[in-house]
Amino acid sequence: MSNLEKNLKKALKLGEFRLFYQPKLDLTLGKIIGVEALIRWQHEEKGLISPLDFIPIAEKTGLILPIGEWVLRTACKQNKDWQEAGFPPMVMAVNLSARQLYQANLIEMVARILKETGLSPQYLELEITESMMMEVEYVLEIVKKLKQIGVQISLDDFGTGYSSLYYLKEFPFDSMKIDKCFVRNCTEDIKDATIVKTIIAMAHELDIDVIAEGIESKGQLIFLQQNLCNKGQGYLFSKPVPSEEFIRTINEVESI
Ligand code: C2E
Ligand code: CA
Ligand code: CA
Ligand code: CA
Repeated sequence: MSNLEKNLKKALKLGEFRLFYQPKLDLTLGKIIGVEALIRWQHEEKGLISPLDFIPIAEKTGLILPIGEWVLRTACKQNKDWQEAGFPPMVMAVNLSARQLYQANLIEMVARILKETGLSPQYLELEITESMMMEVEYVLEIVKKLKQIGVQISLDDFGTGYSSLYYLKEFPFDSMKIDKCFVRNCTEDIKDATIVKTIIAMAHELDIDVIAEGIESKGQLIFLQQNLCNKGQGYLFSKPVPSEEFIRTINEVESI
């Protein structure tokens, strides 16, 4: 077992993982419509560790299963707590990893966590990516079962993997996310601009919600608004922050 693997196990036991929250906004109204939960590892010596530095190992070793379950439970409980504290209901998005999608009891686990936390399924959204479609028909069955429970499904990082328009046709996605790599230069690079515009137009035609990620500038926001992308997230509004701070940013974000 590698050191990192040992440390990840210990981190889980010691409760060193944290969820940070980033708002998703309605770009026309400037209102928060949802939130994405993003994991961090609060290491006692190294400080905050990015998911990019440990999620791949967690996936390889299978530790992503207990970590993923912790993420799901914590995010659902947090969303329920906010609702009970009187905040307007929001959809909480949770990232799933490939391993989780192929985990035998995923459906039961999601149903159980919703029941345990008392969160209504319409307020949970699971984000999956194209790279998880190793066995497309199997994944389609899982996604349909998740939809039957009542949770929403979002296609993350659209266009960055082995994209197939087949997925968009066959899968009952509620929304798709335009990856930040296309948004980054959409105001300067004609190719990125074209890709972003085309994804938005296609999503509208297919009647799938489209959300742009990685919005950092006012210019990008205006470009997206002009091209009728009405949902987005990014540093322009807020970075992912701890729950206490998220609650404080709600009011500030809505006045941008
Ligand atoms: P992702 O799901 O595509 O998440 C979006 C990433 O973009 C997040 O990085 C977020 O902090 C970052 N981001 C948001 N707005 C902006 C912006 O305006 N500019 C830029 N440059 N970046 C922005 P983060 O939090 O480091 O997460 C990285 C990846 O790690 C995620 O990509 C996701 O694939 C994975 N991840 C995070 N949390 C979890 C989790 O709980 N479970 C699993 N399985 N994967 C997770
Ligand atoms: Ca995501
Ligand atoms: Ca993404
Ligand atoms: Ca990504």
